[in-house]
Amino acid sequence: MNQEIALTAPATTARQERTSTTLPAQRVSTAAQTAIINIDNVVKTYESGSQQVRALKGVSLSVERGEMVAIMGPSGCGKTTLLNCASGLDVVDGGRITIAGADLAELSDKTRTTFRARNMGFVFQTYNLLPVLSAVENVELPLIVSGVNPREARQRALQALETVSLRQLANNRPAQLSGGQRQRVNIARALVNEPDIVWADEPTGALDSKTADDIMQLMETLNREKGLTFVIVTHDPAIGARCNRVVRMRDGVIVSEESHK
Ligand code: ADP
Ligand code: MG
Repeated sequence: MNQEIALTAPATTARQERTSTTLPAQRVSTAAQTAIINIDNVVKTYESGSQQVRALKGVSLSVERGEMVAIMGPSGCGKTTLLNCASGLDVVDGGRITIAGADLAELSDKTRTTFRARNMGFVFQTYNLLPVLSAVENVELPLIVSGVNPREARQRALQALETVSLRQLANNRPAQLSGGQRQRVNIARALVNEPDIVWADEPTGALDSKTADDIMQLMETLNREKGLTFVIVTHDPAIGARCNRVVRMRDGVIVSEESHK
């Protein structure tokens, strides 16, 4: 098999073209063909005034393609920092992060931004939806920004809303949606680029338990049916129990891991 093909998702030729144009020079190592995410001894220190905060003190973690991994641990232990570093939102001070064979540190800022936009989706606790835009306009925004023509963007955004069972409410603005519906819009927006990986930072943290369960079911379905890899930061043990693996952090390090299935 052409090694570059391993960078792409199994499904579409369109995506193969997109991804291989994104990363023409990248080579896939043998290890990277199984693990889509490779985090190796990552260190991250924040300068806060005169103080240094060692948020990550040497974290290593591999995630297989199609896995659903929960990251748990007390507030301030470094979960969000790990997500931000692993997704290329933030840079690390030490160690290495490889996503689908691409070493994030070796990509230029521009290439990394494109790589993230094309291969990753993000779901946060707060919905981050623009209040003046309708649901469908919020979902299509990343496509418009990355240059997809408006008609195609609209079609794909509606499709993504269909996936989260919200097509009927496509023209509602966020204020006209419930918390759970807003989080569905957020998930639709994360999916609209057909990413390989979805990073979710406490996606159910602001939802009641019934709605949280619905959102988790939706993510499980996407994981099962589309093979999406999920990394989910959560405080909710019920969410953790439904993931393939729970990784526990404390004070900037991983302290334990347990596999479920
Ligand atoms: P968690 O998501 O597990 O609650 P974070 O990753 O947000 O933890 O934070 C880890 C540590 O890094 C905390 O001590 C936090 O105060 C600190 N921290 C996070 N972001 C910054 C920042 N931008 N500047 C300074 N310190 C930060
Ligand atoms: Mg956090």
